[in-house]
Amino acid sequence: MWPMPPSDPRIQPASTATVEQAAALIRAGGLVALPTETVYGLGANALDPRAVARIFEVKGRPSFDPLIVHAATAEAAFDLVESTPAQAQLLADRLWPGPLTLVLPRRSTVPDIVVSGLPGVAVRVPSHPVAQALLAAAMVPIAAPSANRFGAISPTTAMHVFQELGLTVDMILDGGPCQHGLESTVVSFMEDPPVLLRPGGMPAETIEDLIGPLARRPRAGSPAMSPGMLDRHYAPHTPLVLHRAGSTFDPVGRRVGLLMLRLPPDDAGYAKDYAKGFAAVEELSPAEDLRQAAANLFAAMRRLDAAGLELIYAHLVPDSGLGLAINDRLRRASTRP
Ligand code: AMP
Ligand code: MG
Repeated sequence: MWPMPPSDPRIQPASTATVEQAAALIRAGGLVALPTETVYGLGANALDPRAVARIFEVKGRPSFDPLIVHAATAEAAFDLVESTPAQAQLLADRLWPGPLTLVLPRRSTVPDIVVSGLPGVAVRVPSHPVAQALLAAAMVPIAAPSANRFGAISPTTAMHVFQELGLTVDMILDGGPCQHGLESTVVSFMEDPPVLLRPGGMPAETIEDLIGPLARRPRAGSPAMSPGMLDRHYAPHTPLVLHRAGSTFDPVGRRVGLLMLRLPPDDAGYAKDYAKGFAAVEELSPAEDLRQAAANLFAAMRRLDAAGLELIYAHLVPDSGLGLAINDRLRRASTRP
């Protein structure tokens, strides 16, 4: 089990005063973990390469994996890019602030380390009031990947951040649990048509309703190729296997955890039977609400990971709307043969 966080002045409930302190730390080249509507981010001044280097160091993140830059407004975000196609502008007008990241040709003011030397920069305007307040107070764009060790499950509470990173950061701003609980959807405008680089908290259908079909993968060798498409990511330490349609699984004699949207309907006690052999059960949303499921996903994976299990057995959810992003995370978390 993890220890309780020490009472340390670096872990602070978000308030006007602590947001001001955090903004001063960011301006001084420090690292601040901050709540966003997607997951907790590990933020630094995006225009300060030394501060950004500390993000990679603390996360153990490979330097080829570029960071998303957060800005207070669309204007501030587009200040970092060379040009904004009309479709990107439309998405920004309609869907920002929100869980959508746009990759656009970068200006030379964006340090190489932020974009891992790529020709594009990923920008987003978050809606979380604490993230908004911090960006406004810091008056610089903030580069922020998820505040976890590289490859681990993204944090959706301040406590998760502490568990992942301890006090290697200058401050953890506690803004309560994240509303979406899934990373942002990433769309690249580095090729035409634009490409869905990562499904996430903004459903692909919502984007396509506005600008038409997105490509589902970048063309080979295209500048939209993105290293964040690593196969294994967001993984618990406990092996996770996916349920295969039509197959049954008997956990008899083993400590196995079950992760699914909801248990099967309770006809004649079948649901209870189904759950019975499992040592721990996580239902993401008994009401089959994919938003609720997305918001619960990473915390449920963490609870199962802490339950001393041999195996986590997970069912995919329906593959539409947020289900696409939930299933993407489950597949990446799964153990391959
Ligand atoms: P995260 O780890 O949640 O911060 O997500 C960052 C992901 O956004 C990366 O792994 C990439 O998939 C994508 N990304 C960020 N910056 C760029 C960029 N400059 N070009 C292409 N993709 C990017
Ligand atoms: Mg991440």
